[in-house]
Parts: sequence; structure tokens; C-alpha cells
Amino acid sequence: MDASWYVLLALLLGFAIGAASVHLLGIAAQRGRQVMAIASEPVPDGVAAMVGVLESAGIVLDGSNQVLLASPGAHNLDIVDGRTLRSHEILDAVRRVWRTGETEVLDLVHRRGRIGAGTELHLRVRIAPLGNRFMLVLAADRTEELRLAGVRRDFVANVSHELKTPIGAVTVLAEAIEAAADDPDRVRSFAQRMQVEADRLARMTKGLIDLSRIQSDDPLDRPERVSIAAVVDVAIDRNRVLADAKRMRIMPRVLEDAVVLGSEELITMAVQNLVSNAVQYSPEATHVGIGVRVVDGVIEIAVTDKGVGIAVEERERIFERFYRVDPARSRVTGGTGLGLSIVKHVAVSHGGEVTLWSRPGQGSTFTLRLPVAQQPARKEIA
Ligand code: ADP
Repeated sequence: MDASWYVLLALLLGFAIGAASVHLLGIAAQRGRQVMAIASEPVPDGVAAMVGVLESAGIVLDGSNQVLLASPGAHNLDIVDGRTLRSHEILDAVRRVWRTGETEVLDLVHRRGRIGAGTELHLRVRIAPLGNRFMLVLAADRTEELRLAGVRRDFVANVSHELKTPIGAVTVLAEAIEAAADDPDRVRSFAQRMQVEADRLARMTKGLIDLSRIQSDDPLDRPERVSIAAVVDVAIDRNRVLADAKRMRIMPRVLEDAVVLGSEELITMAVQNLVSNAVQYSPEATHVGIGVRVVDGVIEIAVTDKGVGIAVEERERIFERFYRVDPARSRVTGGTGLGLSIVKHVAVSHGGEVTLWSRPGQGSTFTLRLPVAQQPARKEIA
């Protein structure tokens, strides 16, 4: 063998030894990884993936109630703190389940946040053994669900209460008409009052139907392109008779028109309600102004009156359903307390808002702010 063969042999040997040692190192590294995985995550296969896809927050505890695994939802609800459970109520229930082996469901109020009062959350917690070494804790946040149920309950109670008054009045007046059958003047007077109550009932029913329609329909699902200048014209028109009766002038000042995406009917209803309130809650022979302008992609429709104004403590509440500052007076004017809650819903469902400036005794300005629609592409215009 000449020298070149020795060199080639040495190279091949070196390569073989190198390759073998790399392979061995690979096996060692793989084994090491597996061992580490078992040591740091002793949770049964697939549990982590399962907890990750659950809608509820999920936690897996070991035999000493240490947190082995917590989904992001569990952190959001603030029920784990590192490796411990924050809630004593949940921990007590976990201990019971270890003893009994029976799944447990409990409803509890949990305070999220550690600074100040925090937020109260209503949780439904399910605790179940996972084999005999682990415990699964699932927590669902029911706060919003319970709040909505409360709103619905209040709403039904309010509706029944509000409808009871005019219905009761109609019944009493019908009886009075019957009793006064021989006295045409009294019959006429009772019949007129009956008409007022019937009108109020009709307005309330319409208001309720409008409200429930706005709440169940999303105007941005199949939006129309709505010109605000046209909406303002219609809203003024619909209030003309009322304004004339009080010798009031409605003065529009449309600095700039813009198009909003949504429902023309609903936006008109909102502006009409604001104008009708401005007329309703102002003294005779005053003016109502409607200013329209565009600021940073938002169109502002400001309805200003020189009326009675609204006290600071009433400003949030007037947007609630059926809320009236002066229920006795509104019985005379026929107010239902639904107008502003319709305005607020229309604003919110169009991605906007309604703001209020007011000074008692001087007047108010309600401003409906809606996002202006993007310019359509050239192709769409053609
Ligand atoms: P209503 O049918 O009673 O007018 P709204 O929801 O439209 O119901 O208004 C709620 C309450 O807010 C009214 O009862 C009234 O007291 C007050 N309010 C609304 N608009 C005005 C306004 N422009 N000026 C003063 N008060 C107003």
C-alpha cells in the first residue's frame, strides 16, 4: 500500500468514527429530552391539548393540589397564582373530590384583580378526578349571561308596569262612560281622555317593537348608504306639526354632508327622536338648531335646544328604557321614556355614540356621532 492509501483509509476511519459519535450523541440528546419532558410535564397524553381547546378555563392539579397546567382562560379569570389556586372555595371543593371521588359542580363569586375592589365574576366550576393522580378543574364565566338575564327580567317587569297604567286608565274611563251615558258632555270628556291613553299605549307599543327590532337586527349586516342631509330633512319634516303648534322654528345648519353605512330608517328614527325631544322639552317660541359637520371621519349631528336642560345626576339614566326625569309631566306630554334608549341603540349598532351637553334652565345639545362610510372604489360608482 502506498502512502495515499493510508491517507484515504485514515480519512474513511475518521469519518466513520465521527458519524458514529454524532449518531450516539443524537440518541443521548433525544433520551435526555424525553426524560426532561416526563419530569416537567407529567400530565397524561392529550390532556394539555384538550384543555387548550375547551371554552371554559381549564386547570390540571397534582395530588398535592399544585397547578401542573393552566389554560390562558384560567389566567384571564385570575384563578391561578403560579402553582397555586387563588380561590379557597375551589380548593376546598378539590379536597372534597379527592376524598369522595365524585365530580362536583359549584357556582361561586370570584374577585378578579388584586388591587382595589377588583371585578366580581360569577363562575360555574366543575371539578373531576383525572385518573387517580390528577384533578381537572374547569371554570366558566357566567357574569355576562347572568347580567343579561337580569336585564331581561327588569325589562319584562318594566314593560308590565308601564303598560298597566294606561290599560288601567282605559278600563276606568270605559266604566265612567257607561255610568255617564245620559250626560253627553261628560261622555265626550271621558272619551277624549280615553283617546289620550290609547295614543300613549300605541306609542309605547311602537317604541317597544322598534327597540326589539334594533336589538335583534344588525344594521351593518346588509347596510344601505345613508345621506345624513336627507335624514335631517325628513326628521325636521316629521316634527313640523309639533313645532308649529309651539310656534317654534327648527333651523338646520348642514356644513358638510356625508354618507353613513347602516339603516336609513333607524338613523332617521334616532334624529327624529332627538328633534322631537328638543321641541317637547323647550318653552314656546324658542328655536331648535341642528348642526351637521364631519370631524376626523365621524359625522356629528348636534341637536340643540333652549329648553329645561338636564341635571348632572340624570344624564346617564335618561338613556335607560322607560326612564323619565319627571314622570308626572310626561304623563301629560305622552312621553314613554323609550325615545333616548332607541337613539342610543341606533348609535351603538352603527358603531357610533350619542353624547350630551346640558345646563339646567338653559338647554341641551344631544350629539349623534356616526362613522362616515369609506369612499366606494371607482368601479363601484360606475
Ligand atoms: P320621553 O318619551 O319621556 O321623552 P326619552 O327617552 O326620549 O323619553 O327621554 C327620557 C327623559 O329625558 C325625558 O323624560 C326627559 O325628562 C329627558 N329629556 C330628553 N330629551 C330632553 C331635552 N332635549 N331636554 C330636556 N330633557 C330631556
